[in-house]
Amino acid sequence: MKAEIIAVGTELLLGQIVNTNAQFLSRACADLGVSVYFQTVVGDNEARLTEALRLASSRADLVICTGGLGPTQDDLTKDALAAYLGRKIVLHQPSMDKITDFFSKRGIHMVESNKRQAYMLEVSDPLANDTGMAVGVALTQDQTHYVLLPGPPKEMKPMFERYAAPWIASKMEGVYPLYSRMLKFAGIGESLLEHELLDLIKDQTDPTIAPYAKEGEVAIRLTTRSASKAEADAKLDPVESEIRKRLGLYIYANEDVSIEQQMVGIMRERSLKLAVAESCTGGLLSDMLTAVPGSSAVFQGGIVCYTNEWKHRLLGVPQAVLEGAGAPGAVSDVTARLLADNLLKQSGTDYSIAITGVAGPDESEGKPVGLVYVAVAKRDHETVVQQLQLSGSREMIKLRAARSALYQLWKLL
Ligand code: ATP
Ligand code: MG
Repeated sequence: MKAEIIAVGTELLLGQIVNTNAQFLSRACADLGVSVYFQTVVGDNEARLTEALRLASSRADLVICTGGLGPTQDDLTKDALAAYLGRKIVLHQPSMDKITDFFSKRGIHMVESNKRQAYMLEVSDPLANDTGMAVGVALTQDQTHYVLLPGPPKEMKPMFERYAAPWIASKMEGVYPLYSRMLKFAGIGESLLEHELLDLIKDQTDPTIAPYAKEGEVAIRLTTRSASKAEADAKLDPVESEIRKRLGLYIYANEDVSIEQQMVGIMRERSLKLAVAESCTGGLLSDMLTAVPGSSAVFQGGIVCYTNEWKHRLLGVPQAVLEGAGAPGAVSDVTARLLADNLLKQSGTDYSIAITGVAGPDESEGKPVGLVYVAVAKRDHETVVQQLQLSGSREMIKLRAARSALYQLWKLL
């Protein structure tokens, strides 16, 4: 099934809002096994919208529109499609009841235009809007499927996931369902990963092997169409084990979880506690950890020891280590180790992590931007210090340093 996504809205063309709906829908289509060939953006103009519908229906099996289902005069997606397909607009009574109920319960006067949101095209399937007023529409004409969704993401996403996706899947009967696995990597860059798997990626047909990279994170998705899960597993297993044979050291999960989620999960299971000392990441690692629900069972706290004074005063790094001629300096393996060791002693946790480095844009202590030391201390064990040379903007270096620290911890665990 080939799809085209049409995002409707003059605000999009004026650059006032970002077309995040298209991104969401493209991803969601990929998950369904639908190939998106085109994304179109068109303003709130009936003639141009009709032109977009004509073009899309000439080259796609599925046309998904978002936006323009609201009550105002510029919301004309349903009217444009109805006119284009030669269908009438009809009332969807349950939606009308919901709208009148909404207004009467709140004692607000309902203007005539609000009723527009309860209309759909004749002989179409309504898509319920659990988080808003405008009803969505799904229909098939001349072998082309059309799905109309509202513009606000908080309405569009649930409508797609709960109602549109199953509707689309039902139109794909006879096509085997998709089975996929996600392998998540840490401690390896995108290009090296691709290099190591080049032959597999080049010769892939079934399963497909797709590398993903975003914000310093790399993943590989293996996908196959099969009649059953057992059949899919039989195709996916050998590919996964070949990848593991080559790069198993870097795979921290075989599902779509972040490394912080994975670390909190593992440590929670084993009742282990963690404390962190952060210099160049400025609390980012603590933030990532606390973003995971239930992290309080693991994460005890963090110290942002940004200045040398705080490294000395709060975590006991000797001044002679931090400053002066011939001193290792704040960005050094010695400092990273001392921070982790002293924090472990002070906090009484099972593990501690320390990060110190140069996030940029300027060098520091004569050390290059991106030089980062990560120390992981474990009770009654030798502390492990890793020197990293990271690249990217200040923001990227901070993120990569925090992720690398979690990867070092994962290796120890
Ligand atoms: P409403 O009932 O709010 O008028 P609608 O279905 O008519 O909904 P639009 O009027 O086109 O949708 O857009 C309403 C709001 O939804 C926009 O102001 C914007 O915040 C958001 N929105 C619309 N389209 C997109 C898009 N493609 N990506 C992200 N957000 C969008
Ligand atoms: Mg609108």
